[in-house]
Amino acid sequence: ELLKHTPDLTNIPPLQRFGFAKKRINDIFEKFKVFLEEMDTFIGNSFIKDTNDLHGEHLDTQNMLRQIESIVQIIDRDHMKVAFFGRTSNGKSTVINSMLRDQILPSGIGHTTNCFLSITGVDVQEPYLLRPDSPDKKNAQTIKRLSNSLSKECLDPNAIVRLYWPKTKCALIRDEVVLVDSPGIDMSPDVDGWIDTHCQDADVFVLVANSESTLMHSEKSFFKRVNAKLSQPNIFILNNRWDCSAGEDTATRDEVRSQHQERTIEFIVDELGLMTRKETSERIFFISAKEALKIRMGQASDLAQGWEERHKEFEDFELKFENCLSASAINTKFHSHALRGRDIANSLNESLVKVEELSFNYRKKCEEERKRKEQQLNFVLKESEAIKHHFKKKIESVGSHVEDLVSDALRE
Ligand code: GDP
Repeated sequence: ELLKHTPDLTNIPPLQRFGFAKKRINDIFEKFKVFLEEMDTFIGNSFIKDTNDLHGEHLDTQNMLRQIESIVQIIDRDHMKVAFFGRTSNGKSTVINSMLRDQILPSGIGHTTNCFLSITGVDVQEPYLLRPDSPDKKNAQTIKRLSNSLSKECLDPNAIVRLYWPKTKCALIRDEVVLVDSPGIDMSPDVDGWIDTHCQDADVFVLVANSESTLMHSEKSFFKRVNAKLSQPNIFILNNRWDCSAGEDTATRDEVRSQHQERTIEFIVDELGLMTRKETSERIFFISAKEALKIRMGQASDLAQGWEERHKEFEDFELKFENCLSASAINTKFHSHALRGRDIANSLNESLVKVEELSFNYRKKCEEERKRKEQQLNFVLKESEAIKHHFKKKIESVGSHVEDLVSDALRE
């Protein structure tokens, strides 16, 4: 059904594909719901409701309706989720800001994100945030306010502060993308808790590494745990601060780059067994988030040599990331709903076959009953005819006998 009415998704910008697929699948479930409601009324008004042959398990339309309603609710909440990880000060907040094309998250020394922070696009004019310890919406209009709210009396590193940002201000969060920034992975020993609480439904993980150093033990062990707990996680590796290599000669830069590239590939391919060499090499980027942010905010006057190339690589990352994110989210989120819907449709189909069988048997039984009654009626009619005939004769003979008696009496 989805395929029949869905135009070629490749003609739609990557992030909008998710919203499109969501609407399609939602429409189908809504139609299914209407059909089930009609079915429920039909069953309620027919002989079937009184039959013992079709027990609730087979034709519990109410139960099916409840299941469909809960799927529709889950679909409504479904979104694409990206989790950013890395050591403190590698530039996670700066990467997120560059992707949002605005200085939204506080970054830099003294602005360490010491708990999780999600950014969701909403249809409001003014941004606000929700802290885990209070249901009140807090004003988040200025970075200073946001940063105060984030660092104040240091929340549990497993806690999450939710920032709601006007969709009109950032294209990336317009299409149901939720970004999650994390405390530095060097800050908490409880990575399993992090993964369980915040990453189970993440579609893409972005590791923000520091191109000035090689992949660290904490970064590797974090992704080993992610790989152990989730099936086939989508990982992108950003070697940030690549602008710092601008002063080096080309040969040294190329050497550093291929060294990082090779070690990351070894880790992903050999240690994690997650992707092929080719696939992995398409997930590694050398970027400068700081420069990208400046360019996007119109402050690109003093950038180091080679910034155009670094920014192009950043854009290349964004394109591949968006394609991967929407494909993965459509696949993982809607696939399970589609399977569930198909199961319900199948069991409904089985029930309908049973209903058809039952109505056939019921009709047959009714016809037999009618025939039996007809035969009985014919019998009774015949009998009564015979009786009528018999009595008529009797009455006639009694009548002539009486007549004889009367004429005898008169004669005497
Ligand atoms: P986080 O702790 O991982 O979120 O790191 P931040 O985004 O707060 O960045 C830490 C510091 O690194 C800030 O002062 C940023 O301006 C700086 N920074 C981030 N990205 C880059 C980059 O690409 N190049 C350079 N030179 N500095 C960067």
